[in-house]
Amino acid sequence: MMRYTEEEIKSLWLDFLSRTEYGLSLSRIMDEYPDERSLVVKFGDMVEYNPNFAEDFLKYPEIYLSKGEEAIREYINEDIEIHLRVSTLPKDRRKDIRDLRSVHLGQFISIEGIIRRATEVRPKLKIGAFICSDCGNITYVFQEGTRLQQPAKCAHCGKSRPIVKFRLSIEKSIFVDTQRVEIQENPENLRGGEQPQRLSAYVEDDLAGILVPGDRVVLNGILRPRERRLFGNVKTTEFDIFLDVVSIDKEKKELESIEITEEDEERIKEEARKGDIIERLRDTIAPTIYGMKVEKEALLLQMFGGVPKKMKDGTRIRGDIHILLVGDPGTAKSQLLQYMAQLAPRGIYTSGKGSSAAGLTATAIKDESGRWTLEAGALVLADMGLAAIDEIDKMSSTDRDSIYQAMEQQIIAVTKAGIYATLMARCSILGAANPKYGRFDPNRPLVEQIDLPTPLLSRFDVIFKIVDVPNPEKDRALAKHILNAHLVGEMLQLEEENILVEDYTPKIDLEFFRKYVAYAKRNIFPKLSDEAMSLLEKKYVETRKLYEETHAVAITPRQLEAMIRLAEASARARLSDVVTREDAERAIRIVEYFLKEASTEGGIIDADLLYTGISSRQRSVMEKIDLIMRKLIDEKGFAQEDEILEEAKKIGIEEMKALRILEKMHREGLIREVRNGVYKYV
Ligand code: ADP
Ligand code: MG
Repeated sequence: MMRYTEEEIKSLWLDFLSRTEYGLSLSRIMDEYPDERSLVVKFGDMVEYNPNFAEDFLKYPEIYLSKGEEAIREYINEDIEIHLRVSTLPKDRRKDIRDLRSVHLGQFISIEGIIRRATEVRPKLKIGAFICSDCGNITYVFQEGTRLQQPAKCAHCGKSRPIVKFRLSIEKSIFVDTQRVEIQENPENLRGGEQPQRLSAYVEDDLAGILVPGDRVVLNGILRPRERRLFGNVKTTEFDIFLDVVSIDKEKKELESIEITEEDEERIKEEARKGDIIERLRDTIAPTIYGMKVEKEALLLQMFGGVPKKMKDGTRIRGDIHILLVGDPGTAKSQLLQYMAQLAPRGIYTSGKGSSAAGLTATAIKDESGRWTLEAGALVLADMGLAAIDEIDKMSSTDRDSIYQAMEQQIIAVTKAGIYATLMARCSILGAANPKYGRFDPNRPLVEQIDLPTPLLSRFDVIFKIVDVPNPEKDRALAKHILNAHLVGEMLQLEEENILVEDYTPKIDLEFFRKYVAYAKRNIFPKLSDEAMSLLEKKYVETRKLYEETHAVAITPRQLEAMIRLAEASARARLSDVVTREDAERAIRIVEYFLKEASTEGGIIDADLLYTGISSRQRSVMEKIDLIMRKLIDEKGFAQEDEILEEAKKIGIEEMKALRILEKMHREGLIREVRNGVYKYV
């Protein structure tokens, strides 16, 4: 039962307006009308004014809002429509989509989540002006539902259909902008393995066009039923639900959904002070996965990320660190990805094969009513978080095209079917790929064995190659580790205590871990110290210098950037505002480790080999062979193998090597063999 009569509700609103500063806000709105046409009232202020009034509002929002809008008109003493929008419900008042039941119908509720889909903004007829075919006068009909409601009879001459016909006057009618969106539960609020549920929501007038897929929001509004129609418009007794949105609270700060209390903050700072924090956090990551210490350390730094920079000319340098794991099957790649997606704030695990229409990036699709709808893919949903993409080599060709932009500019532009939208995808990517031919062939360059284009590979800051080579000592340790993990798992089920349990229990509890990361990302923006800067510079120049001896480009500017980001992340993880020498050293260690694993030729690190599959030494030999061939072809129109080899020998290239290069050029389609041992350019 309502506590107040409708009249009382109106007087309470009037009293509320005159006693609070909202009365003042109204006069400001009046100045800006019609650009401004909503009065946003914080729910907390209603509670403060009168708790009963506020409680009742939640139960009977329809009446309260319409009486409130009447009160506003009376207060400003003008007959214009100002929306009353109640917002900002306390967190404990929010509902989970999965918990919505029929008792909530008609109530004011608050839903937190990510906007998964949003349609184009389109006008909807609100008040139809119908011209009578007989007397020419206008009858107004307030429109409800999706079907056009015509007048039953003319309000002036009184004649009814079908004796007279009505024509809709566009000029005299009143339209309102509308948009339909779909909100999906935040992944971090899901209990392990649950599929996120979605709810349709409907926004109108000045709220239309605000929401974009990927937005983290709280939608407040009235839960309404919608009839389910069968084919041929047959009515049924089953209903769908949707949210009639009254107000939108946008999450302004990233990671706002992770709450950090003062006590938490104390503990976070204390843990950081204790030292070895990076090692301790690292050992917390997937303790059941054996070894991979460097990989885990990099994954940890990825969670913190470097510091994004904005340049004067408007360009942005990403701070997010992208990591790729390529490895033999069964090396715990998928396991690690799933773990990280759960651990990282705003983490999402998905497969390149893609389960939704939107795939990894975003797409425009037609919804049930035929409106174009923008749907966010994994990278947009993971905005400000981590996107773990398993089997990234299997992604669709559309994703392949748009993932470049997502990785570097961190936006996804959709231009399809008249929709031009830019969605934010400020996430770090953790990808995993299997070798093209099942297993790694140690004698072939890495890139040749992964089904990913070179420009894409080069956008990863760190590429770990994980090979599964039998090694009795390592195998024994790994087997023991896995067996023990199972044993511990069994004991945990029996709730038995055992010393072993400790080794498989994260050193730091995951809830706290997440808070720690969120705190660091929110508050710590480290700057490079001179010492760190000169160390990185020195390392870069020194490594580049090796070129003179080895003719291999051991490092490229991309790895320098990677080192900077890793060093910044390291400082962040220690809650330090300064990137110290130790941070720089840590970063250098990681980059050298992965370059060595992924791009060595004859013991020499070669970054070109990693990204192009051709080492720079090979390249310079190839260039020389190329010159020889050009000369021969210029002279005779073709190049003969024995002549090439002879010329090559003269400048110190061994026969075997020259033959290998020829074979490679042939394989890559640079040259063709017209006769046995006779070559021409393609
Ligand atoms: P991938 O995705 O690399 O093919 P998975 O993540 O599916 O491999 O792992 C296969 C199985 O092998 C998993 O059950 C995983 O726990 C186990 N495994 C592989 N390597 C390790 C390791 N280093 N430590 C513990 N378990 C491992
Ligand atoms: Mg796998």
